[in-house]
Parts: sequence; C-alpha cells; structure tokens
Amino acid sequence: MGVKAGRVHNFGAGPAVLPIEVVEEVQMALPNLMDSGFGLCEISHRSAIFQDVVDSAMGRVRRVLSVPDDYTVLFLQGGASLQFYMTALNILRTGEMADYIITGGWSKKALAEANRVGDAQACWDGSNSGFKSVPNKGEYELREQSIYLHYTSNNTLYGTQFHEPPSSGGKPLILDASSDIAGVPINVSSHDIIYAGAQKNLGPSGVTLVILSPWAMSRVQEGIPTMLDYSVHASKGSLFNTPNTFGIFVLDCVFKWLEKNGGLDGAISRNRAKSNLLYKELDRCQFWKPHADIDSRSVMNVTWRLSNPKLEPLFLEEAKVAGLGGLKGHRSVGGIRASLYNGCSMESVQILVNFMQDFESRYN
Ligand SMILES: *Cc1c(COP(=O)(O)O)cnc(C)c1O
Repeated sequence: MGVKAGRVHNFGAGPAVLPIEVVEEVQMALPNLMDSGFGLCEISHRSAIFQDVVDSAMGRVRRVLSVPDDYTVLFLQGGASLQFYMTALNILRTGEMADYIITGGWSKKALAEANRVGDAQACWDGSNSGFKSVPNKGEYELREQSIYLHYTSNNTLYGTQFHEPPSSGGKPLILDASSDIAGVPINVSSHDIIYAGAQKNLGPSGVTLVILSPWAMSRVQEGIPTMLDYSVHASKGSLFNTPNTFGIFVLDCVFKWLEKNGGLDGAISRNRAKSNLLYKELDRCQFWKPHADIDSRSVMNVTWRLSNPKLEPLFLEEAKVAGLGGLKGHRSVGGIRASLYNGCSMESVQILVNFMQDFESRYN
C-alpha cells in the first residue's frame, strides 16, 4: 500500500499536514539514515552524520528566510510556549518594561509569562472586539521606557494576521511566528527575536526554531538556568544536550522541499492562491460568516461560522465522510477553521471548496 492511501485532506491547526514527499523521505530514513546503517531515531546526536543534518537544516533556514549572517539560529525544545518565558528571561531585567500586542490567546499567554520576569503590559488588546482584527499603526502606544515590543504575526485561533510588522518606534521587535513562518513574507533583520514551534509550517512538534539578533544575544542575562540560557545553546550549536534529532531531520526535509519548490516566494504565492480561493467562496453568499475583518484576514488559518450555527456539526460530519479532516474551529472561537499551512495542497483546498458549494446548495 502506498504512503498516500487513506490519508485525509488535512486542515488541522497543528501538528499539521506535511508535504507527501517529506513523509516519504522520513519513511525511508527511519530504518537507515543516509546509508549510515543507523536508523533515524537510533543515531547519536554526536555522530558526524547527524552533525551534517543539523548543519544542513541551519543552512536551509538561513537561505530560505534570508537570515543575516550575524544572527544566531537555534533548534530548541519546549515549544513556542517555553519561548514565552525564555525570551523575557533572557532579555528583560527585573523591573524593566516590555509591551505586548494582544491579538489572541497565544499573545495573552506570552504576556503572562513575561510578567514573571519584568513589567510586561498590553499596549493593545483586541479581546473586547472578539479578536476580529489586528491593530493599525497609531492604534497603540509603547511606553517610553519599554525595552521591546512583542507581537504574534498570525493568530492561529482567530484567523487574523499582520500583513506588515507593527511599528515599534525603533524599539526591538520580538515575534511569535509559530503559525506563519516560511509561509508569508518576513524581514528577519527588522526583528531581534523570532521564535516558532515547528509543528505548523516547518515539521513535527518538539522542535522550536529561534532566531536571535546580535543585540538579543548581547542582552542575555548571566546566571539564568542553563537550559533556558540562549548563549549556552548558541555556544554548542544547539547540541548542548540531546536535541529532538527526529524533529530536526524532518525540519531539514521540509526546508529542502521548500527550496525545491520556489523557496519562500513559492510558498508565499501558493499560500495566497489557496486562501484567495477559500475566501472567495466565503464571500460568495450569506450562508457563510467569515470571522476576521477583511484587512486582517489570515492566509494560514481561515475561520468562519455558518449563518445557521446549528448546521455546523452536520457540516463537520459530512466533511469527514468526504475525506476532509481537522476542520473543527478552536474551542474558544467555535465554528470552522481551515489551516492552509505549507504542507496543505491546492488540490485539498479545491476539494474543500467543491464540498462547501455542494453543502450550501443542499442546506441554504
Ligand atoms: C501553536 C502556537 C503556539 C503554541 O506552540 P507550542 O509549540 O505548543 O508551545 C504558540 N503561538 C502560536 C502563534 C501558535 O500558533
């Protein structure tokens, strides 16, 4: 039986679908990694073969995302959720200020963790308007003494997205890019820390990509716990302790796939085409009620309700029968969510839209 047999069209929010070529490459590597005789999950992280994997993955990350040479790239564990705390712990001193733009559940959590370290506050909070949009420039103000501005580029739960980084008045920017990294344009050099759990756009769970500017590395405080210290991981090339060897290999395969398919520009245009197709259907008739304001719509996570919410369970049930999976909205929003990450194909989105048109014609 082929690798593809029985797979659904997977719109899950994460861990998310991988390109089938990547799944096949991983399948090949499991018993014997690159003719080493050692299986992918059975090889020392200190071996020359695995060092090649790490070097390859770091090189591809730098090329695809145009990471400046003086920036540090790390593969860590603990997910984006650990970075909520780790960024603040490394950068903020007790009593120092940081400002956070709150555009959804993840940025709220990031703020709560930073508050353990310093005086972190929300400079904008969209909770009163149901997180339907991200702020425009001028809709928020940073405190004069704040050290950095933190934002979440794509709000996985609500389906909103910044289409340009927020202005920070020249202060350092820290970005949680977990759900849109390598799927939308990004200017790494205008940020000081970028972090992303891999399981949406880059690979499996358990590996977190962290990119740090020279300023961020110079701010790292002394005396923080070893495993939370960016400079420790940087000095050991992300091999201070046993990393997620499997995850780093899969991430390398995903970046290889990206490079073969037009690099970041290719991913950007595929993701735009997929989301345009789906939003066009959502705007076609009143049967669908898209959640996000038009200017803030996400290319990666598309969220909507049915104008008759009682039909939503039926929609999900029939979608499942049609081979479409992972469409249930996050519990905090309800309704439907289709995640269109890099691994999701145009074919899957076309099949979803065909299904939606058929469903609408039968129940509207
Ligand atoms: C999924 C997600 C997280 C949480 O990531 P973990 O790796 O599970 O900690 C954080 N931020 C954003 C924007 C996410 O989409």
